[in-house]
Amino acid sequence: MVTEENVRVAPQPVVNGSPKVNIHNGAALNAVTPVTRSVDTQEKFMHKAADLLIDYLTESWSGKGKVCELRSPDEIRAAFDDIGVPISLNDGKPCNDDKVLAAMEKALELGVRAQHPLFRNQLSAGTDDIGVAGEWLIGSSNINSHTYEVGPVFTIAERAVIDKSARVWMDIPAGEPTPAHEGLFTPGGSFSNLYAFLCARYKAVPDIKKKGMWGGPKLVAFCSEDTHYSALKAAQTTGLGADNLRKVKVDKCGSMMVADLKTKLAEALAQDEVPFLLFATAGTTVLGAFDPFQELSVVAKEHNMWFHVDAAWGGAVLLSPELRKLTMKGAELADSLTWNPHKAMNVPLACSMFINRYPGLLRETNGSNATYLFQPDKLYADQDIGDLTIQCGRKPDAFKLWLQWRAKGDALWARHIEHAYHLTRYMADRIMKSDKFVMVIPSQCTNVCFWYLPTRFRHINPHTATEEELKELGRCAPKIKARMQQAGKAMIGFQPLPSKGLVNFWRFVFAGALGLNNQSVDEILESIDQNGHDL
Ligand SMILES: *Cc1c(COP(=O)(O)O)cnc(C)c1O
Repeated sequence: MVTEENVRVAPQPVVNGSPKVNIHNGAALNAVTPVTRSVDTQEKFMHKAADLLIDYLTESWSGKGKVCELRSPDEIRAAFDDIGVPISLNDGKPCNDDKVLAAMEKALELGVRAQHPLFRNQLSAGTDDIGVAGEWLIGSSNINSHTYEVGPVFTIAERAVIDKSARVWMDIPAGEPTPAHEGLFTPGGSFSNLYAFLCARYKAVPDIKKKGMWGGPKLVAFCSEDTHYSALKAAQTTGLGADNLRKVKVDKCGSMMVADLKTKLAEALAQDEVPFLLFATAGTTVLGAFDPFQELSVVAKEHNMWFHVDAAWGGAVLLSPELRKLTMKGAELADSLTWNPHKAMNVPLACSMFINRYPGLLRETNGSNATYLFQPDKLYADQDIGDLTIQCGRKPDAFKLWLQWRAKGDALWARHIEHAYHLTRYMADRIMKSDKFVMVIPSQCTNVCFWYLPTRFRHINPHTATEEELKELGRCAPKIKARMQQAGKAMIGFQPLPSKGLVNFWRFVFAGALGLNNQSVDEILESIDQNGHDL
């Protein structure tokens, strides 16, 4: 008999001989604590959180306060214990809004301030008000930009930024139509480079998607010794294998040597290997070198290889008609480009794009036609970007850049990168005029690589010094950096380059130059001297 009771509570299914628990009929349903905070409470909290964050940003942008508060992991845990919000979640207890705000404040206080002008540790640094607002807008909308259906504005804004960036990359004068292209925003430059591997491989071996790496020709790719390690990761991830990513020698400035490329190509062909990808770089990570794109594009064409330019770091120079002429000649001939606006353009992390010349190729290469998302018979189905990617959900990162581009316009973008170049030259000039510093190589891109000579090393020239002297000199940069971190004044990267026999040197990078001027450059060099003269 059908009673009200057995209509509401369906019979318990039996799985493997034991009744399966009906989760819709459990005690949890009787819980009375509301999980949704009242809108009023949330509004109050958000105002306080916004005030806290705006104070943090304005203090950082004005260069006040420290760049970092160096603490050990134990000290960080103790500091959070002191305010009653332990880092460990294992006590399982909740805390009230005041404690949440206190934890936010502590996290910012003990964290590193990438927004401070003297954070020069990485190729990404600070951002600006419009950037943060864009990031907040994306977070507030919490939209997944895989389909037009849920992200209509973000989807067309992404296409608009890709279209504009393709024009900039290919150097198309105003008024002329944009040449054929397509593109994507990705979670970072490493992903963008992975897309280059995937597209190039699909173009070379279209049945790779079905058959995998078995049975086809032996594929080999070429990049320089100074290529970013994401190329190696892409070779590992795609199943190409590290051994099949051939490292071409670089000259003393770090640019790929075309003669060595030709030698390595000949070796590969002699073994019946199939070259499918030439991976070049605009702005190498350490030295800031640009590969000779024009010559490389000829070689790529000759051998029917996909020609990719990784401009994750150097891409920003495309924005300046003057600078691009000096560094990017021939990059417009590439099949694809990686560009990270989250580096020299100061767009909030993450903001990276991959663009290529072949509309439809990304979908062919990566698509899987998931029927629950990309129904062909829904409205505006052709607008969906999601199936071009190797992700499912994705953040609408393009929108931050779109907002900044609208706010700045082309001319201000050009000045943005030109200012960073100006300061690069200014710094290099100061270094060359001082007996306390020696350039490792002439500055390239916005990278200034130099040694600082403590007083007792003033007489040596690191380019001709003995191995013993260099060993000692190499110990200085880490010590100076540690002192600067302890004082919290600045963070500047250093590293050795063993492949070129170079001991630890400073790599000062202008990842944009927000908040910096000539005087700040003087102060930075002065600060290295103050922290290191006695070593
Ligand atoms: C930073 C960088 C990458 C990697 O970009 P992520 O966004 O950090 O993944 C790739 N290539 C070059 C030349 C870079 O400088």
